[in-house]
Amino acid sequence: MKNHLSDNVLQALALDQQQVNEEMITHLEQCDRCREALANYQLLFTALKTVEKPSLEIDIEALVMPQLPKPAPVRQPVGWGNIWLAILGVAIFSVPLFITGRFIRNLFKEVPVMMLSIILVGTLIIVGFLLREIINSYKERKQLLNFYQ
Ligand SMILES: [Zn+2]
Repeated sequence: MKNHLSDNVLQALALDQQQVNEEMITHLEQCDRCREALANYQLLFTALKTVEKPSLEIDIEALVMPQLPKPAPVRQPVGWGNIWLAILGVAIFSVPLFITGRFIRNLFKEVPVMMLSIILVGTLIIVGFLLREIINSYKERKQLLNFYQ
């Protein structure tokens, strides 16, 4: 037998689970490496036998379960906080709108049409200028973005 003994054979020998045949004995007598390996396995197995089994009498579940993170609560569709915030927002916007709406309607009744149209045209011109300025600034930013790209 030229080949070394396999790990399985060595382990079985160390555990005395396998009948040792002549071939194995002669190999072990001649081969330092296999003898050493067998001795190591025997050492390992005797060490394993002498290791005390850990005591598992304590309630591991009771110890571990409180340490585990609790599953995340299912997200509620709409919180009451959000609803109150929405109501508050609507109230804040609607109260002045209601007041000024009434005021503007009274104003329109008393102001002549000519005056009203002048105000309207003036407002439109101002809004137009503002819009143009905003659009121009956006165009400039866009050009800057294109420049840097
Ligand atoms: Zn060998």
